[in-house]
Amino acid sequence: MKNAVCRKCRRAGLKLFLKGERCYTQKCPMIRKPYPPGVHKNKFSQLSDYGKQLREVQKIKWTYGISETQFKRYLEEAKKQKELIVADALKQILERRIDNVIFLAGFTISRRQARQLVSHGHFYLNGRKITIPSYLVKPNDVISLKEKTKEIKLIEKIKKPKENYQPPKWLEVDFKNLTIKIKKLPLPEEINLPFDYELAIEFYSR
Ligand code: SF4
Repeated sequence: MKNAVCRKCRRAGLKLFLKGERCYTQKCPMIRKPYPPGVHKNKFSQLSDYGKQLREVQKIKWTYGISETQFKRYLEEAKKQKELIVADALKQILERRIDNVIFLAGFTISRRQARQLVSHGHFYLNGRKITIPSYLVKPNDVISLKEKTKEIKLIEKIKKPKENYQPPKWLEVDFKNLTIKIKKLPLPEEINLPFDYELAIEFYSR
């Protein structure tokens, strides 16, 4: 359906940057219609507690492009971590997905594009081909672009990183050789996404 992806942003009430280049232009539907499709915009503020929790879960799932099963699995992993509170551990786990890292490095215009490129085998992890977008990176991992891929048109844009774009400090990005080194795991405060992870977790504790 036309604009099906954009409807997610409108339902979430904020730009989730799911579409790619369009998200950075005036064509983004969130500029003209920043309220849920099919309902009056005032309805948005009348969500129940359940609705608010569900909305946070959806925002996170849509942003990272993950399923319900994956979200629950990440939550279970987060609960096992000792060093961080569950919300921060969840935040960190999601951010470590290799498709997200490639997007954050500035190599793709969206997480979705990064996910596709990884699935189609265009990247190497520590010198070996990787096709699993959900792989969670670790310190000292090195992601590189397949030599052959460097020639394809789609990747041309990668060679021209967005002007003034600064990848997060936990990544060492080499735009010349198209490699990304994971310097360390991201700290929760280094993850700039406007989601209420506590609220999302409450959705699963009812
Ligand atoms: Fe669509 Fe991107 Fe705008 Fe979201 S941010 S509404 S995905 S164009």
